[in-house]
Amino acid sequence: MFGILKKKPTDRLIEVLGKGKVNTSLVERKLYSYDATPIPIERAVPLAVVFPESHEDVVKLVKVCYEENVPIFPRGAGSGLTGGAVPTKEGLVVSFERMNKFEVNLDNATAEVQPGVITSQFQNYVESLGLFYPPDPSSFKYSTIGGNIAENAGGPRCLKYGVTREYVLGLTAVIKEGQTLKTGNPVIKDVAGYDITKLFVGSEGTLGLITSATLKLIPKPKARATLLALFNRLEDVGKAVTKIFTSGVFPSALEFMDSEAIKAVEDYKPVGLPRAEALLLIEVDGPPKSVLEDIKEIEELLKSMGVEVKVASSKEEEEKLWSARKSLGPALGNLRSGKINEDIVIPRIYLSEAIPEFRKIAKKYNLPMVIFGHIGDGNLHVNLLYDKAKKQEEERAERAVDEVFELTLRYAGSITGEHGVGLTKKKFLRWQFGEVGYELLKGIKLLFDPKNLFNPGKVIEV
Ligand SMILES: Cc1cc2nc3c(=O)[nH]c(=O)nc-3n(C[C@H](O)[C@H](O)[C@H](O)COP(=O)(O)OP(=O)(O)OC[C@H]3O[C@@H](n4cnc5c(N)ncnc54)[C@H](O)[C@@H]3O)c2cc1C
Repeated sequence: MFGILKKKPTDRLIEVLGKGKVNTSLVERKLYSYDATPIPIERAVPLAVVFPESHEDVVKLVKVCYEENVPIFPRGAGSGLTGGAVPTKEGLVVSFERMNKFEVNLDNATAEVQPGVITSQFQNYVESLGLFYPPDPSSFKYSTIGGNIAENAGGPRCLKYGVTREYVLGLTAVIKEGQTLKTGNPVIKDVAGYDITKLFVGSEGTLGLITSATLKLIPKPKARATLLALFNRLEDVGKAVTKIFTSGVFPSALEFMDSEAIKAVEDYKPVGLPRAEALLLIEVDGPPKSVLEDIKEIEELLKSMGVEVKVASSKEEEEKLWSARKSLGPALGNLRSGKINEDIVIPRIYLSEAIPEFRKIAKKYNLPMVIFGHIGDGNLHVNLLYDKAKKQEEERAERAVDEVFELTLRYAGSITGEHGVGLTKKKFLRWQFGEVGYELLKGIKLLFDPKNLFNPGKVIEV
């Protein structure tokens, strides 16, 4: 089954890595076959969970796997929402949790980071030095830099600062047969050749294993301010966003919640949000004086449109407002046991028109829908809720999702702005890329991984 060698692949791995780095207990293998994907997916129990401690360990394990045709499933913290870290067949789960060191070069404003570093720990450290690493997925307290890079993760701040890809200057990775690939340099400007670094970011573990990344750091903004805007008409939200964008102020976050999202939060953990058709949470950052000026300008601009506005007057108030946005996940869990949370992106100009169209889909399938997200960059979380105990409801939700993606693509959008394709959105990637683009993706995958051993079954079918 595993080639002509007599030894089992796991025995060979123990031989080259040492027993302490290869766990074959059934409990561990089962535990490491899950991630945070909220819908049922087919998973396999891996042969072993491997815990490399260095780049050299990764080279050794990939060599064995390439010789023995063993699939490799890389894993960060397992917080992915599309099944990216889930083994799809008998193979190895490679957990990077022991590769968790980083080093900051203050003078160059860069950092060399191993993949298992927890995002928030890295961010807190660089902020203590006056620097800033902006990518802020809501899972930042437990997700890893490796997982963030593999998913090209983002969050509210990415409107102004860009997603993970903007901060990866270079990578060290292990690809086919255990070859070491080094891409990029610790410099901002580098236009030599094709940009393999950027190609690797967002490749979801399908091209190889990232063992180190050179990350760009920027100066930490000195101050922040938050404003809450309440809307009675959805159409006004789009108009307000356009006005803000043409006012010369660039918000560091521009978050949207529809009426159902507001209600869900208030039913779950009330923060005193008034009932409204929609709300925007707007954050500006920068030098303290300009933050005050910018927030005032947005406040006046919105008031002139007849929008109700409230500027957070203290750190506590600010945190309370953001806690409303951050508690949406559990708040939706409180409404129904099942949730399909898609992270579609639509050009901003179409959002006011598209949101009612999404609601029509929910109505057609008789399911509750809650919409919230990063309206500044058109990245919305369209949540279809259902009762897990009712098979028919689940099937209706799945059919509704197909229509959500069809609609997204009709509006020149993308099927994912944050969570990646993984297992759950594979079929829709072909819709987005078309045949020519899809064939190119396959060719790229096979260049890095001709045996299709890196995260097989994810993102594309080869
Ligand atoms: C409550 C919650 C909120 C979330 N909010 C956001 C959000 O706001 N924005 C967002 O972008 N995402 C969000 N996510 C999704 C998820 O947290 C991100 O995709 C995150 O980047 C995954 O990191 P991880 O370390 O958990 O990776 P995992 O889930 O373990 O893995 C993710 C992918 O990366 C691959 N991978 C991991 N390490 C490596 C490596 N070293 N080399 C190659 N491939 C590797 C895996 O194979 C998999 O395909 C959220 C998830 C949860 C549960």
